[in-house]
Amino acid sequence: MTVPRQQRQAGSLAAPAARPVEHNGAGRFLLRTLFWGGFALALLPWWLGTKPGSIDTTAEIFQSAGRVTGLIAGYLLLMQIILMSRLSVLERWIGARHLGLWHRELGGSVLITILAHAALITVGYAYADRVGFVSELGTILTEYEDMVTAFLAAGMLVCIGLLSIRGLRRALPYELWYFLHLTAYLALLLGFAHQFSNGQELFKPGLGRTLWTVFYVVMICAVAWGRVVAPLTLNLRHRLRVADVVAEGPDMVSIYITGNRLHDLDAQAGQFFRWRFLSRGLWWQAHPFSLSAAPNGRWLRLTVKTVGSHTNALRDLRPGVRIFVEGPWGDFTASRRVKSRTVLIAAGSGIAPIRALLEELPPGAVVIYRASAVHDLHLRDELEHLAELRHATLWFVVGDRRDPGPRRLFTPTGMRELVPDITERDIYLCGPDGLVTQSLQVLRRLRVPRRQIHLDPFEF
Ligand SMILES: Cc1cc2nc3c(=O)[nH]c(=O)nc-3n(C[C@H](O)[C@H](O)[C@H](O)COP(=O)(O)OP(=O)(O)OC[C@H]3O[C@@H](n4cnc5c(N)ncnc54)[C@H](O)[C@@H]3O)c2cc1C
Repeated sequence: MTVPRQQRQAGSLAAPAARPVEHNGAGRFLLRTLFWGGFALALLPWWLGTKPGSIDTTAEIFQSAGRVTGLIAGYLLLMQIILMSRLSVLERWIGARHLGLWHRELGGSVLITILAHAALITVGYAYADRVGFVSELGTILTEYEDMVTAFLAAGMLVCIGLLSIRGLRRALPYELWYFLHLTAYLALLLGFAHQFSNGQELFKPGLGRTLWTVFYVVMICAVAWGRVVAPLTLNLRHRLRVADVVAEGPDMVSIYITGNRLHDLDAQAGQFFRWRFLSRGLWWQAHPFSLSAAPNGRWLRLTVKTVGSHTNALRDLRPGVRIFVEGPWGDFTASRRVKSRTVLIAAGSGIAPIRALLEELPPGAVVIYRASAVHDLHLRDELEHLAELRHATLWFVVGDRRDPGPRRLFTPTGMRELVPDITERDIYLCGPDGLVTQSLQVLRRLRVPRRQIHLDPFEF
């Protein structure tokens, strides 16, 4: 299928109504309540099973602390997996970026509690048996059921945690890092048995065992739904395939996509999908790309900057190639704004979601498109056409970052000159790290409230 040029230009010919604002505060509150409620329930068996005055000796203090940290580590690990289960309700309430941030922050706590659990339990038993730490470790590994696999699991989780440190993560090819990260499921499986065979609170039937069984069932259902059932249903329903591949410039390509019942697709401009193109050499990788035009019921489009092997290979896609997608995700959407006026700041491939958002934001937006040279400005015709349609102001800021023009713009005075009412607007910001950092510094100095700033940094 070839998409008519007129349609390519603006997504639709009539100016669409601005997307209404949605509030997700209640959802976030509910999730926080569930998290802390679950946390309290996870510790309840230990609390109920510990009689007042029963923790007297040094051995008992260490063992008790070991049990508590064990329960916390197990609970946080389950939460980590639920956060990454790709359940659409979590994506809607928290947003993919914040889910990623929460997952990263919780990761540190999981590591600390796992190591603390192993160390405290070993020390506690060593005190009780009046032997040294190493000798007790040997006894635990050889005489207690399922402890070898538990130590293996702890070791794997520590490695996964270390590999997630930014510097190390960036040193590895993304796909290798991703597959290593997925071994967390194996670690969960390996660590599972020792909780129920040795865990004081879980090994015998009762409240603790029942509660923890429920936790595991919830986690399995979330993963099965988010990672298997929902994507399968979506793809069987829409059966997406490549319609056309259009070069937007030497390093930018747009991929038009058709499918069944696209008017039913519950996606918004500014959101992204993970796209798996089912063709030779590409099928084994799923990459995130944002929609570069608001969904219009007839076709979808992504616009990709060629930066590596996968994005380069996308240029050679042929019409008809089937696609398996997961999504839509992200809260970089028009419905998250808190003001009626907006500013959109983009550079590089960040122009893709910004171009789409221009269709769903209220008229009167200001778009600042930063590029180092004129030939790096992509989708320019479309942006101009859309700006006219939606009474938006378009600023192309072109030049080296050391040039006086761009330098002046990224100062509070320069920004105010371009957008005098900037503090009264929502700011949508998408582009390379440098642009995001520089813009955030200026916005902070202008005292733009954080809730008015929406980021899509293209990195988790
Ligand atoms: C939410 C989101 C939306 C995005 N939207 C767009 C868009 O609309 N247009 C666009 O051009 N780019 C977009 N990107 C960036 C795009 O996903 C990467 O540029 C692309 O995956 C690079 O793949 P590569 O093999 O060609 O390059 P590589 O050289 O292999 O990777 C370059 C960098 O891209 C990231 N990356 C690589 N593979 C993946 C993967 N499978 N999943 C996640 N990140 C990966 C890593 O940080 C890596 O360092 C988006 C990224 C995110 C996270």
